[in-house]
Formats: sequence, C-alpha cells, structure tokens
Amino acid sequence: MSKSTRVPGYMQSKGARNRGPLGDREIRYKCSMQNTILDVLRARPGWQEVSGPNPPQQQQLQQQQQQEKKGEGDWDFHWCDREWLHANYDTMFLQEHQKILHFRNHYELTRKNLMVKNLKRLRKQTEREMGKKEAESFDFYPTTYELPSEYHIFVEEFKKNQGIIWIMKPAAKSQGRGIFLFRKLKDITDWKKGEYQPLTDPNREVPETYVVQRYIEDPYLIGGRKFDIRVYVLVVSYNPLKVWLYRSGFARFSNSRFSLDSIEDAYVHLTNVAVQKTAPDYDPDKGCKWATQQLRSYLTAKHGSDAARRVFQGIDNIIIKSLQSVQKIIINDKHCFEMYGYDVLLDDKLKPWLIEINASPSLTASGKDDYDLKHGVLNDVLNVLDLENRLTGKEKRVGGFDLIWDDGAVTTDDGAMECSVNSVSTTSNSFLGCHCDRKKHLREIYTAAQALKKSTPS
Ligand code: ADP
Repeated sequence: MSKSTRVPGYMQSKGARNRGPLGDREIRYKCSMQNTILDVLRARPGWQEVSGPNPPQQQQLQQQQQQEKKGEGDWDFHWCDREWLHANYDTMFLQEHQKILHFRNHYELTRKNLMVKNLKRLRKQTEREMGKKEAESFDFYPTTYELPSEYHIFVEEFKKNQGIIWIMKPAAKSQGRGIFLFRKLKDITDWKKGEYQPLTDPNREVPETYVVQRYIEDPYLIGGRKFDIRVYVLVVSYNPLKVWLYRSGFARFSNSRFSLDSIEDAYVHLTNVAVQKTAPDYDPDKGCKWATQQLRSYLTAKHGSDAARRVFQGIDNIIIKSLQSVQKIIINDKHCFEMYGYDVLLDDKLKPWLIEINASPSLTASGKDDYDLKHGVLNDVLNVLDLENRLTGKEKRVGGFDLIWDDGAVTTDDGAMECSVNSVSTTSNSFLGCHCDRKKHLREIYTAAQALKKSTPS
C-alpha cells in the first residue's frame, strides 16, 4: 500500500527531532481505530504511538493532573471515537497544544433529526431577516419530519401529497440499517406497532427516534443506476468558522438498475457500500465507486462546464449553510476538529440534495484506490492541523484540501483559477472534483514555508 513521500520540511526519519510547538520531542498520539488512520499515524515521521488501553476514567484524571503539574499530557493528538469523547470530554483538562477529533456536541449536525431541525431554524431566521429569496438557498434538504414527535404534522403533509414515496430512517443509525420506503400510511402500521410504542420493548424507555423524509424519486442516473457523492470536509474551528474541502471523494453506485417498481429492494434504492456489498451479484473487483474527478469529467462532457460547475457550487452551498446552522450551537473548543463525510444526491435536474452528514465517515478501504484516497485525505488532515509547525498558517491549500471558508468565503489568490479537469474558471477557492496533485503541492508549500521561515528572524 502507499507510503508517505518525503518532502522538504518533513522530518526525514522516525527519530528526527520535532521543531514544532511541542519543542524537542516526538508527537505522541492515541488512536481508537484499527483502520487507515492508524496506518497513516504509524507511518508519520516523528509521531509516536501512546500504546495500551485507555486507563479507567478516575485513574486517567489523576494521571492527567500529575502530568499537567509536570507540564505535559500523555498525548498530543487523539483520533478518538465518539464514545470515548462522550465518556471523557467533560472531565478532561486539555493543554494548549492538544488536538482531539470531534467537537463535544457534534451530533447536532450528524444526527438526522437534529441536522434538519437546525437547518429549518436557520432557514426561518434567514427568511425573517433577509427575505424569501435568500431563504431559498436552503432548499437542499428533502422535506423531513421527526417521529414520533411530528407524526401528526407528517400525516397532514402526507395527505396533501398522496402517491409520493417516503423514506423512513432511524435518526441515529448508519449504513442503511433500519431504513425502508413506503407509499401508503398503512405500510407503516407494523413499524408503528414495533417502534412507536415504548412499552413493546422492555429495554427501551422511549420509542426510537426516526425521521421520515420525502424520497427523491428522480435521481440522476448513470448507466441506469443511482449514486450519491461522498465529500470530505474538515472543520478546524466553529468560531470563527474555518472550513477545508477535500478535492477528491467518490460517487457510490447502487448495484442494480433504478426503478420505482420495487421500493422494498435496498440494492436499488440505498447506495451505502455496506448494503451494496451484500448483493448476490456484487463484484468486489469492479466495486461500485467512481472518483469525484471522474464524475465531474462525466458531467462536464455530458452537460457542459457551466452545468457541472453549478452542481459543485451547489455542494459548496450545502456545506457552508449546514455548518452555519450549528455554528452557534456547537461548543467551540480550539482543541477539537471534525472531519465530516457529507452524502449528497443529485436529482435528474442536477440539483444536489443533502442526505446526511457523518462525523465518522468510513475509513476502512474497499480496495486499493479507496485506500489511497483515504490515506491521502487523512494525511492531509494532519498536514492542515500542522502539529509539526511546518506551515506559515496563511496557506489556502494544503495537499488535497482547499480552504473554502475562513469567517467568510475564501477566494483564490489569482482571482480566477482553472480547474484542470474541465478548464472551468472560478473565483471561489473550492475545487471539488478538480485535479488533485497533492504530493507535488505539498512539496511546493513546504519549500516555500521553509524559505520564508529562514528569511524571517524569529
Ligand atoms: P445511513 O446513515 O443509514 O447511511 P442515509 O440517510 O445516508 O442513512 O441513507 C442511506 C441511503 O439511502 C443513502 O445513501 C441514499 O442512497 C438513500 N437515501 C436516503 N435518503 C434518501 C432520500 N430522501 N431520497 C433518496 N434516497 C435516499
């Protein structure tokens, strides 16, 4: 599998000294995952794993307090899972330099019901303050209701739109689990009996929260198949909001041709890899993914560069509006960062729709290309965070990540730059689906940063 390339400014060997804010020592990391992120961290020069299981909370607290007195924590960087964060965040004492994955209440954006609630709120506020036209820029999420709390409003809406298809999804589950489509209210009678009534399950005190959402019946199809687009977004601060967008990602296709005749067939309607790979005719070598670059080239060739550009600008809008919808709600903490996986679906008019936002997008690779993509994204997350202090801090691009929002929209340095996949000019610093020569770019920025640091007296 791919190895990290040596570039100027990288430390040249594992034992080399770190010149970053941590002084003259290695960067100590913890990692709760056993997948690509661990490979990336282990291969990173100058980084050292803090091994062993996490000690019990009380012991850890004492250790941390002792280490704090000595002026150090036991880790500098923690790629933790959400469970660890919830169990430990409120009792953690983080030091200036420590970085940890996830903001405390990331679920405000990543739970399906809360995401829509927050979007609805900002949409209303925008309409009040800036008018209807401006609020239309929020028309990117399908009509959604939370169940059981909004069941009656949903039924009213259902009656107004007889015949359309709805999709039912558990608010806090992933990988397509518990999802089903329906056309008639009587089709959810069985579900209501099981999920809606708290007393049918003695282990559950309240009924599980679901969202019911208008199903996008006219998805954009390629080769007769439906797909959605995975987009990687790195947020390093909510206040001010600072957002990096990764150029590469992928489109995930369903294995079977799209049809509305068989709404109970998950292989037709759900594009999750976890679902598709269980299809009897799934071919792991062929897989069901396209790189975002391939998708952008396809759309450009078929519909012209303006139409393709509008698709990707629409995705930028989704990213920024959704993050703004929780900007005042997320507990901002300078130690925290988030790497989101956005799922976006196109309809047959090329309009992008937000399906959901994942705080823990899958980092397990489904093949070599997928591994290389994830390896690159994760390395560039670390490059942006720059614990090694190798950058100037003024960069607008780091590897495959472009800074698209820094307390306001970021424009390209030249005013207009070309997306070399389709020769589109743009002034915004957003290049989703554009050419991504990340290693070459890293070499250039590290060389430039080194030269600048040498010429500037510290
Ligand atoms: P999960 O968290 O379980 O992956 P998602 O909300 O991402 O749940 O839905 C799973 C899949 O179902 C999506 O990848 C998409 O293919 C399909 N899907 C979800 N919501 C819609 C919708 N409103 N219209 C059309 N397809 C949808």
